[in-house]
Amino acid sequence: MKSDCIRSRRNLRWLCLPLLAAGLAAQSGFGQQTLPNNDAYLFHDSHFHLTNYVQEGPDIRNFLEIMGNKVGRSMLSGIPLQQQWMHASTGDFAPRYYTQTDAPLYYYSFTDAFIAMAYRSLKPAERARFDPMITGFNPTDMYAADHIRRALTTFPGVFSGIGEFSIHKEFVSSKVAGEVATVNNKALDRILEFAGEVGLPVVLHCDVDTPFPRPNQYPYIVLKLEELFLRHPNTTVIWAHVGLGRIVRPPESQLGMIERALLRPELKHVHFDISWDVTARYLMRTPETVSMAARLINRFPERFLFGTDAVAPRSQQQYLEPYDIYAPMLAELTPEARAMLLKDNYERIFDKARIQVRAWEKANIPAR
Ligand SMILES: [Zn+2]
Repeated sequence: MKSDCIRSRRNLRWLCLPLLAAGLAAQSGFGQQTLPNNDAYLFHDSHFHLTNYVQEGPDIRNFLEIMGNKVGRSMLSGIPLQQQWMHASTGDFAPRYYTQTDAPLYYYSFTDAFIAMAYRSLKPAERARFDPMITGFNPTDMYAADHIRRALTTFPGVFSGIGEFSIHKEFVSSKVAGEVATVNNKALDRILEFAGEVGLPVVLHCDVDTPFPRPNQYPYIVLKLEELFLRHPNTTVIWAHVGLGRIVRPPESQLGMIERALLRPELKHVHFDISWDVTARYLMRTPETVSMAARLINRFPERFLFGTDAVAPRSQQQYLEPYDIYAPMLAELTPEARAMLLKDNYERIFDKARIQVRAWEKANIPAR
């Protein structure tokens, strides 16, 4: 505990937040948690999925072994979408990924209960390493915010944020049954508004563009995304994979576009995660792209978070792959920027969320 305070000295605003969080948790009856000594770990994981698109994954204790002495803390999300096994489409072949069948995906709300119960099955010291996330809502539904509220009131003391959930995602968005998710959907405004009210950070996936855009194609997605972020200045947003996808490649001006967003004070609540091995390979493509990415993070170190975007990992080696791919860029970061990217920004955002969400629960959930 003490070492947390000392190590955070460079970030005085959040000094000793873990101590406050633990104190508040104890006061509110949700159980005291002892946060790990984070100095020895390589990173905290700001983007992780315990389960896959058929809702399977390692037991949370196995995942703790995979984290081992390499990863200190991790956000803990399921996958909000379930791939249907449609016999008419694939017969006896059971698809395990959304690219393996034309059958639709559907929103699988039970993921939140599954994640909450997995978290609750841990000892307090183990729980302290996780920040569970609510994902099992349909972002086109005006009732989505009510689902988030229900998840908080059903499992008090558990959740720290919402996401990753997707609005525009190559191959996925058009496969989801029902109304297609859009950035300007009123339901999404309700979700972000409620998240801001509670203090839940939002991990949002929205590809920056469409696959294979024509030259000078109108960039409607990013423009509407900017409007969305501007409408919710009090909500902490983490834009997943800096907007990149498997085939949504960085436009020439990608880093310039992010730089412009970083320079705008009215977008200071927006953060960028560089998770996913696909993102890592794009950004580490050439020595020039490595240096461009490192320069941007060195200039705005408080706005970037590292994450693996691992989905139901089976081994530590597989789990750490994105970190290994980023090695050339990590070597070009200042010690302070590296610490913020890998651990300090995670601690700042999620420690604050733990305090705010527990306080919201205390004020809004009647004592049982
Ligand atoms: Zn993800």
